[in-house]
Amino acid sequence: MTDVAQKVPFSATEPYRFCPADGARLQVPRHEGGGARCPFCGRSWYRNPAPAVGAAIVRDGRALVAVRAHEPEKGRLDLPGGFLEVGEHPADGLVREVREELGVKIEIASGPILLATFVYGAGGEYGLAIGFEACIVEGEPRPADDVAEIRWISAAELDDLDFAWEHDRELVRMALTKEE
Ligand SMILES: [Zn+2]
Repeated sequence: MTDVAQKVPFSATEPYRFCPADGARLQVPRHEGGGARCPFCGRSWYRNPAPAVGAAIVRDGRALVAVRAHEPEKGRLDLPGGFLEVGEHPADGLVREVREELGVKIEIASGPILLATFVYGAGGEYGLAIGFEACIVEGEPRPADDVAEIRWISAAELDDLDFAWEHDRELVRMALTKEE
């Protein structure tokens, strides 16, 4: 975050205070995790995690990892993928993200092989990671978009690498261990 006038504290876990539809001050939820109701329009607003998809792309016993080009966690490793768009199926979102980041078409092996909660960014936003194993079916991967560099890694290297999020390390481990 740069070029801001004021540093404003923000909690990713406390209830919303103002209605996104009309800006009215919301009521205090009746119980923890409950919705904050708007006295003006009647809507209730909840804090929910954001679903994010990731791929362990495997080829010849190695998995593709990406060096992050931007904050948060710039310079650390993660896997191709990202946050889902509204209404998007996780598999479609993953195919889209990988095309944007690496310029290749992937095929997803099966259903999700990893589910995990994680925290994202300086504001501590909560995410839900949905991890798949995939392989490239068209094109040769080249870093673009959010990716600075790509590397193909073996299971033996896994423990020494600087992953931004532990669930990515586990997803690679699951995908590569399964291959053996
Ligand atoms: Zn409202």
